[in-house]
Amino acid sequence: MSDALRELYQEIILDHARHPRNAGVLADPTAKADGHNPLCGDRVTLYLHRDTDGRIDGISFEGKGCAISQASTSLMTELVKGKTKEEIDALMTGFLHLVKGEPESELSEEDREQLEVMAGVKDFPMRVKCATLPWHTLKSALSGAGVASTEAAP
Ligand code: ZN
Repeated sequence: MSDALRELYQEIILDHARHPRNAGVLADPTAKADGHNPLCGDRVTLYLHRDTDGRIDGISFEGKGCAISQASTSLMTELVKGKTKEEIDALMTGFLHLVKGEPESELSEEDREQLEVMAGVKDFPMRVKCATLPWHTLKSALSGAGVASTEAAP
């Protein structure tokens, strides 16, 4: 990754952290989950609404914690709208590979461009959990578990 690209990604992360997209409480959620990353103290509560086809047609979050966790949550809420559980599973698998610096082939060009913003955390193992917290929380919300912790995740 070039220095210029790294700087651009840092700016995007800070922008999401300062001006989170889809922040707040959803009026009529069909699912909700609380996520916790005890190693950093990050917390995220996700509210989802799925349409009759199972696609996410509404999502919002409340959270507090480091810029990485909040930016990653904000970014995720923008990406998963209109998607089914299966599509989100594939996105999450691709994202986990990306932030762990592992090869991935699950992501479309468009999704990779969006998610690559967070790829810099691969050099900071503690930060990987900050970045993946919202995804584990989303998975819990979709499966009806209701709670997620980065320390219980595989
Ligand atoms: Zn964090």
